[in-house]
Amino acid sequence: MDERKQELLRGLPKIDEMLSMIEREQRCMDVMRDIVKDACRVVVDEIRGDILAEDGVSHLPTLEQAVERAVGIVENYRVYRLRRVINATGVILHTNLGRAPLCKEAIERVTAVAGCYSNLEYDLDKGRRGLRYDSVKKLLCAISGAEEAVVVNNNAAAVMLVLNTLAQRKEVIVSRGELIEIGGEFRIPEVMEKSGAVLKEVGTTNRTRLADYEKAIGPETGLILKVHTSNFRIVGFTESSDRGTLVELGKRHHLPVVEDLGSGCFIELDRYNLEREPTVRDSLQAGVDVVTFSGDKLLGGPQAGIILGKRELLEKIAKNPLNRALRIDKMTLAALEGTLVNYLHPEKAVEGIPVLRALTEPVALVRKRAVRLANMLKRDFGRKADIFLVDGFSMAGGGSLPDRGIQTVLVGITSASVSAAELERRLRRREPAVIVRVAEERILMDLRTLRDDDLPELKRAIGEVLD
Ligand SMILES: *Cc1c(COP(=O)(O)O)cnc(C)c1O
Repeated sequence: MDERKQELLRGLPKIDEMLSMIEREQRCMDVMRDIVKDACRVVVDEIRGDILAEDGVSHLPTLEQAVERAVGIVENYRVYRLRRVINATGVILHTNLGRAPLCKEAIERVTAVAGCYSNLEYDLDKGRRGLRYDSVKKLLCAISGAEEAVVVNNNAAAVMLVLNTLAQRKEVIVSRGELIEIGGEFRIPEVMEKSGAVLKEVGTTNRTRLADYEKAIGPETGLILKVHTSNFRIVGFTESSDRGTLVELGKRHHLPVVEDLGSGCFIELDRYNLEREPTVRDSLQAGVDVVTFSGDKLLGGPQAGIILGKRELLEKIAKNPLNRALRIDKMTLAALEGTLVNYLHPEKAVEGIPVLRALTEPVALVRKRAVRLANMLKRDFGRKADIFLVDGFSMAGGGSLPDRGIQTVLVGITSASVSAAELERRLRRREPAVIVRVAEERILMDLRTLRDDDLPELKRAIGEVLD
């Protein structure tokens, strides 16, 4: 090592000196000393790294500068990382943006039980231990027509638990056209392997016939699995067996039929000019023994995995020790109960649950909001930027309704002085962040995922980033 570097290393700030300066100036007083000390150590390590690097720095920061950096690290711990974001992307169920915003009742229920004791596992009538899921079980069965319900952490956990209970060391027959991957970490074949079930693929990617299933059935078969191919469609020369046919087949061979619905939809979306997603009722009425779906996709509730179906099978699933490891907490339960109450009347659900409202809102109303926003922006920033309306499509997201966008209206902005990429970046890094689309050198804000009460904040945001 050259002498210059050695000399710089000898001059590194001392952690104790940094600490005494911080204490003398009475900074970081509300944080325990060990944390402050660790921050100082991080800074010293960074400076050492800078010196030792190939094209190392030629001079040291002052003690004051080093202290500022350490204080910065400590203060940063108090900045909440999980915060509100304004979703102007038009993707209604955006997994990166937290999927479903909760409805009013769900938030009320969480607030009502989060800060106090609750009867989570206590039967108030009988004065003894009660069951955690009683509150949502009755609702789930009432709105779906199922005999029994179990709720776990998410749908991936639900699939795992069902397969582990009903098909450990047995074969699970599934069509090659349904061996899907959802967002990187959920792959049906991998989840199966972890559950202890053995995958038995049948048919081909585009065609799987009843005979393919039938041929695969043997003494090792545990169940027949149908998976909703949430985020893609195979089009053209295709064939698959509908659930009614599979139910028949299951009955004949005394095998349970399980369906992973992905997005648990209770609303007949074709009534709202959308493509029909199979509803939970469709599946159960067809005779499927067990269905699983997410709580935070089209259901519009908290993250959860919901398992519904025949009592005999659900009782086995509930008794699996794995169920204990996957159980949900009181806040999720409270939010789920608040969400499900809306479904006692489907029209109330469509009005009250944010994702359903966004999905079904007539485009004329979206346009009205777009006009309002555009006018607000033009009035104040019309000289700095071009502000215009664009017709386009929103996406359901979350693996629902993949092939058809939903008609929408967007507000586009271009500025002569700031590039679209830079506008996008500035909007993303302000507080609260606004996430927009960028296309053809303009930013686009989709009014379908925005609400009336977002508009004033959006106006503030645009004002800031155009400067
Ligand atoms: C989304 C999805 C899952 C995973 O659900 P999570 O609740 O995100 O765990 C599993 N299966 C299908 C078909 C899905 O669409």
